[in-house]
Amino acid sequence: MPTPRHVDLAISATWVVPVEPAGALTGHVVLVDGGKIVGVVPDAEAARDYLARERVSLERHALLPGLVNAHTHTAMTLLRGIADDVSLSTWLEQHIWPREAEYVTPEYVQDGVTLGAAEMLRGGITCCNDMYFYPDAAARAYQAAGMRAVLGLPVLDFPTPYASDPDAYLQAGLAARDAFKHAPRLSFMLAPHAPYTVGDATFEKIVTYAHQLDLPIQTHLQETQRELDESIAASGASPLVRLDRLGVTGPAFVAIHSVHLAPGDVELLARQRCHVVHCPTSNLKLASGIAPVGELVAQGVNVAIGTDGPASNNRQDMFAEMRLAALLAKARSGDAAALPAQQVIGMATLAGAHALGLQERIGSLVAGKEADLIAVNLGELDDAPLYDPISHLVHVAGRERVTDVWVGGVRILRDRKLTTLDEAALLARAQLWQQKLA
Ligand SMILES: [Zn+2]
Repeated sequence: MPTPRHVDLAISATWVVPVEPAGALTGHVVLVDGGKIVGVVPDAEAARDYLARERVSLERHALLPGLVNAHTHTAMTLLRGIADDVSLSTWLEQHIWPREAEYVTPEYVQDGVTLGAAEMLRGGITCCNDMYFYPDAAARAYQAAGMRAVLGLPVLDFPTPYASDPDAYLQAGLAARDAFKHAPRLSFMLAPHAPYTVGDATFEKIVTYAHQLDLPIQTHLQETQRELDESIAASGASPLVRLDRLGVTGPAFVAIHSVHLAPGDVELLARQRCHVVHCPTSNLKLASGIAPVGELVAQGVNVAIGTDGPASNNRQDMFAEMRLAALLAKARSGDAAALPAQQVIGMATLAGAHALGLQERIGSLVAGKEADLIAVNLGELDDAPLYDPISHLVHVAGRERVTDVWVGGVRILRDRKLTTLDEAALLARAQLWQQKLA
């Protein structure tokens, strides 16, 4: 008889939802060693072939890959709910930018990201794509929280306290990247804010850096009708066509929002193998519109899901985004079969990983990938009866049902308590900022 293989951790759950392949497995165990997934195997095989140093048994749970929040501005957690019920331009120009000009410092970013990371981890988000000032301060906060993150290095054509001109933004961002490029859970992207805040010359520089340093590019794109109309009036082309001419598009380009697309834009995104991040709540709350997700997916564009920042959402809740994405796709297309639950879970996990260039490392429960796992309790009265756990994960369960979270095999949330952060201290810091910012 062969000797059993020793592994760090064996997690059994009522349902295992590996994403690859689709569906929910019963009677299976996820094996973890050295922070990575060793395999997803039937109970009998696990008992026969493996000896785990730690065993976790989840008697009423679904175990699935950690959710990937493919677009946010985490430090803006400190501005949650500060200005509701206004348009994107009013919101930015009268509420957000003035406060950011006055208050945003590395300390602000570190506190805001820590609070936001706590919220995300408690809601089953193990990786986020964060675009904000002082990415070095954000990096420290994610490291302390134990969360995986992609840091978008922000670039604007106008000055802020963070940087004076496009070159200064790039230098500050690339210095942060140099300081943290060996951090195992962090990666980096160039993040010009939007085609209406960044000019052609800056985009050209960004493309040069992207090629030299092998960094992907992300930007807010065609979030509002006004943005599209103004671009066509000024240059006769959509912002996407303009970026394409500048060499920005390609398989390492992430177009955030993409709500208002001109004729030909969907084909262009597909042809260039760009990624789109759908942020349904933010697009509704700012009255921007509803992205044509069904058309994008039908053309083969990889569509991930994001919450957008907590000042325009106002929760970093991927369960809410999954459900809304499913419902909006059905309503927009007039087809109840649009975006079935399995596909939405794929968008919130593997498609997010793919958009962030992390598809080889996270996004599904496949041997060799990092052990980013979440357990969702589906055994409460509100869940009964339960015919299909995949459906329940999108249409019934909320983020409050996430009981346990592992990132790279480390248990970050244990029975709804964070193991890396002091929740009382976080609340106290949030109170201090609230008094300052109010
Ligand atoms: Zn955004």
